Amino acid sequence: MPNYYQPEIECASHEQIRAWQDERLVKTVRHVYQNVPYYRNLMDKRGVTPDDIHSVDDLCKLPFLTKDDLRDAYPYGLLATPLQDCVRIQSTSGTTGRRVVAFYTQHDIDLWDDCCARAIMAAGGTKDDVVHVCYGYGLFTGGPGLNGGSHKVGSLTLPMSSGNTERQIQFMCDLGSTILCCTPSYAAYLGESIHERGLQDKIKLKAGIFGAEAWSEEMRQDIQQKLGIKAYDIYGLTEISGPGVSFECSEQRGMHVNEDHFIAEIIDPNTGEVLPDGEKGELVFTSITKEAFPLIRYRTRDICVLSREKCSCGRTHVRMSKPMGRSDDMLIVKGVNVFPSQIETVLLNKGYPANYQIVVSREHNSDKLEVLVEMTPEMFSDELSKVSAREDELVGALKAMLGIYAQVKLVAPKSIARSEGKAVRIIDKRKLY
Ligand SMILES: [Zn+2]
Repeated sequence: MPNYYQPEIECASHEQIRAWQDERLVKTVRHVYQNVPYYRNLMDKRGVTPDDIHSVDDLCKLPFLTKDDLRDAYPYGLLATPLQDCVRIQSTSGTTGRRVVAFYTQHDIDLWDDCCARAIMAAGGTKDDVVHVCYGYGLFTGGPGLNGGSHKVGSLTLPMSSGNTERQIQFMCDLGSTILCCTPSYAAYLGESIHERGLQDKIKLKAGIFGAEAWSEEMRQDIQQKLGIKAYDIYGLTEISGPGVSFECSEQRGMHVNEDHFIAEIIDPNTGEVLPDGEKGELVFTSITKEAFPLIRYRTRDICVLSREKCSCGRTHVRMSKPMGRSDDMLIVKGVNVFPSQIETVLLNKGYPANYQIVVSREHNSDKLEVLVEMTPEMFSDELSKVSAREDELVGALKAMLGIYAQVKLVAPKSIARSEGKAVRIIDKRKLY
């Protein structure tokens, strides 16, 4: 029997999970109201006090928190414990603006490690495994998170960090790594490099835990095939602790959220209204066990669906889908939410390159959606009747995906304008009227 698995928590009844969440939410709200002036101001502005919060049902009374709030409060503005009680900071890369810094007490680190340990266990990890961590270490949460989880499981941990592919492969062969933790793009690259060197037979990997990047089902198949492993997804954000907020089980059908530590909600990104399970919207997290840096109703900007359908692995914690896009990218056309990622999925499924442009305009007071799609050079040499049949096929497939009509225009390869090497995806002409 593995030495780290918490079926009494991970397979608890829905009622039990709700009871934990109710109690811990009430406690967390009191904690931030008393100790974080920034939160107290936000709550006062909304006219809500800790006395109004009795259970998860009251969550919707609380204000949202966004990345802008975290940047405004940088560095200490959201700290909920004395700095002397903290033992660690982690930080985002800051590529999209000011850095976000998150603080941890030892208790917070322990809980984070627990969450990552669950992810490793769900991928089949035991104390007999050799866990090869080539996420970056340092301020980035990937390396430290999986490292801590692996220690809890009792696996032999290789703190490789990122880069130096030659050395990664050598250690993998020499030390018999069985579980690989890194970004999916690096896993694919490692797979290729191992094949190029003809070292497939020397690799003992059985599973991989990949996150910190968006990746598709096609990429999963590719990695699984190249490395001969089962590839598991893991999700987390530095702001809400790091990797391990949710993780995939062997079913590979969505990631179980560690609901004893985090409450997940799906909201309409435009109105903030909470949506029922099964509906697509923006993922919002509330941490209910963190001491130093608890976040209440933090808007992740990731578009997801939650599912409470029974999972055959036995875990009862709610599952979230892979993020399907960012709420910042969402378009509203004829009152319907449209994500570029949905259009991209249709195009890739039908064998088109992912070079397309979405043009939204307004004609006679009604929205018009047009999708320009680059053909492959082979398609381009087809006769016109075939091109027009292809356009009709795409119109049908897009209607099925989006629920609305989109005009499709197939265009010559490389004819869509690019900026910094990337196609300009969305042109919303409605803003010009
Ligand atoms: Zn499961």
